[in-house]
Amino acid sequence: MVQGVGFRPFVYTLARELGLTGFVGNDVHGVFVFAEGPPSLLERFRTALSEQAPPLAVVDEITATAIEPRGDETFEIALSDSSGQRATLVSADSATCVDCLAELGDPGDRRYRYPFLNCTNCGPRFTIVTDVPYDRPLTTMAPFEMCADCAAEYHDPTNRRFHAQPVCCPACGPELRLTDSTGAVLPGDPLDRTVAALRDGEIVALKGLGGYHLAVDAANPDAAATLRKRKHREEKPFAVMAPDVAWARTLCEIDEHERELLESRRGAIVLLDRRPDAAVAEAVAPGNRQLGVMLPYTPLHHLLLAATGPIVLTSANLSDEPIAYRDAEARERLAEIADVFLGHDRGIHMRTDDSVVRSFDGRELPVRRSRGLVPEPVRLRRELPRPVLACGAELKNTFCVAKGSNAFVSHHIGDLENYETLRSFTEGIEHFERLFDIAPEVVAHDLHPEYLSTKYAAEREDVELVGVQHHHAHIASCLADNGESGPVLGVAFDGLGFGTDGTIWGGEFLLADLADFRRLAHLERVPMPGGDRAVKQPWRMAVSQLLSCYGTEPPGGLEVLRRNEPQLSVITRMCEGGVNAPRTSSAGRLFDAVAAILGIRDAVSYEGQAAIELEQLADREERGHYPVALPASGTLPDPVAAGAASPPLSVPAGQLVRAVVDELRAGQRGEVIAGRFHNGVAELIARLCERLRDATGVGEVALSGGVFQNTLLLRRAVDALRRRGFRVLLHSNVPTNDGGICLGQVAIAGERDRRGGNSPERG
Ligand SMILES: [Zn+2]
Ligand SMILES: [Zn+2]
Repeated sequence: MVQGVGFRPFVYTLARELGLTGFVGNDVHGVFVFAEGPPSLLERFRTALSEQAPPLAVVDEITATAIEPRGDETFEIALSDSSGQRATLVSADSATCVDCLAELGDPGDRRYRYPFLNCTNCGPRFTIVTDVPYDRPLTTMAPFEMCADCAAEYHDPTNRRFHAQPVCCPACGPELRLTDSTGAVLPGDPLDRTVAALRDGEIVALKGLGGYHLAVDAANPDAAATLRKRKHREEKPFAVMAPDVAWARTLCEIDEHERELLESRRGAIVLLDRRPDAAVAEAVAPGNRQLGVMLPYTPLHHLLLAATGPIVLTSANLSDEPIAYRDAEARERLAEIADVFLGHDRGIHMRTDDSVVRSFDGRELPVRRSRGLVPEPVRLRRELPRPVLACGAELKNTFCVAKGSNAFVSHHIGDLENYETLRSFTEGIEHFERLFDIAPEVVAHDLHPEYLSTKYAAEREDVELVGVQHHHAHIASCLADNGESGPVLGVAFDGLGFGTDGTIWGGEFLLADLADFRRLAHLERVPMPGGDRAVKQPWRMAVSQLLSCYGTEPPGGLEVLRRNEPQLSVITRMCEGGVNAPRTSSAGRLFDAVAAILGIRDAVSYEGQAAIELEQLADREERGHYPVALPASGTLPDPVAAGAASPPLSVPAGQLVRAVVDELRAGQRGEVIAGRFHNGVAELIARLCERLRDATGVGEVALSGGVFQNTLLLRRAVDALRRRGFRVLLHSNVPTNDGGICLGQVAIAGERDRRGGNSPERG
């Protein structure tokens, strides 16, 4: 990634320092250099090219050939060849660099306190690019004509702002504007008035890099509660922006790797363990052990936070809608939520939510891959024979366009359930195809016929369609994330995914590579009374699990049954008759059921809430676990020899539910039960993988699926597997949840294409 990141000026300066002559230029393949001088200096030049490259540059490879000297007298930057620029990459938006920060705080600098300063090493990129080549006229900076001072910097190869497309200053660039919801400009200094509004407990709509945020003082209980109420977001945690790491340390425990993640130029939200004494209002992240924290990543944030201390900063939308990013639209949609609007006249072309990451074992686990990371490609181990579009899943949708060995995973699109999100999805695909000059010939999609992403795929013309089973995609995504191709034992634990047998899967043990998979085992199936309603009401899953364990005579004294007494007979009939009660092997629903049995909650207001709270409740010191009796080794199906005729093993996960019920009735504390349940699931995973290793000879395990966002389960499962000698593959480039599905779809479609046949998934 060498375009728009100051690479040519860097080469120019380096060559001049070493006294080399020649030139540097761009072409479709990247940067080329002609350098002439003594061999020892050329060698130093070459080493420095990769070792001292600018912060935003990514150098994959340097190749060199000896040619005849040309006898140039100087070293110059060659003008861009305007044809075929598209293969060079657009970089991700980047947090304000230290040099720009120094200028921001320097009263003698002409950009002192200018909220839009940036340079080649930082600032907006992906969000402002309207088309390629990446050049100012094709960004939302096009309307701003550079002043003479900015133009001089822009054209000076030795300047930090050489060819920095968004370069600007107070004389020529965008300016802040504080308005009310009608768009009427409020008098006074916009920044000072915003600070005052936050201090007064008002809600501010704040225009950021990828869209509008809503901000309130994080320590003000009334303001946080009002924001929660107006946003109709009853329990989902808000993120907090802290002025700097020292401030963040007063809110959360931060280790060295977490500090790196916080201070990274990507500016992601980092999920951290919250300190008991954190000065954050209860309504910010109710009942949550963790807090999502980010640091200022634009000059505007820096100016604001220096005056306010930590603020809540959450995507400006009503629940489930995409983030607002156009000024008029934001004012309209947020009129009932925000008191004032701090905007500006630099447009946002691609709306992009904040990325969310966490640290695990000293590596990064992405939860949401968006601003700051997109559109950096994920490198595929093998080149794709033909360009691929993968349409992803339905919830937490991302898509991916891929060519050669680059897979461009999109920013977080969201849940494809309303018109706005669907439009974001289709427009996003068009934009990516244009930006990276990719015309997909193969289109991969989920097997679920009702996903809007599947329907979109079916409407694409002149392409080869490839249906990919949801959990196979999860495991392939984990393989591709690690640059591996299997075979691997894939443990895919998530909410719901369409199976090859027409039932709903979600607690799967697969033998998988990038081309194919076999379903070796799954959690035993239980009815989901009411279908989707059972997702929103975990108590229904509790009833279903109890019926499966005990028949119609569950042990007495269970509060979950008492609480839901009026509907119990209806739900029981649904489960028994199989009417509107599809059976599922979902691990997510098992966690839901246990959460409801423990009285954590009967209904959820966002996806995965019950399971998250079950994890929060668990005593992390607890080492005991509930056992599950696996069938003797001899009774396992022979996954290699028996072929598709041999049915997968059904794992009696209901034994975990029985253990939970027994301990609950014996008066055990919920914290201990939740801990032992987590440990029990981890042991079940490890012991079953051991059996499957005996049967298959495969000693690598890939863990994927939304349930593994549960870091307690992940910790215990990884430890239990490693104790048994397994090599364990985890995600680090794309999320383990459905936001990572599209990468797996690309890997599978590519591998099948390579093998010359896209046979349907059979499992
Ligand atoms: Zn900078
Ligand atoms: Zn200027």
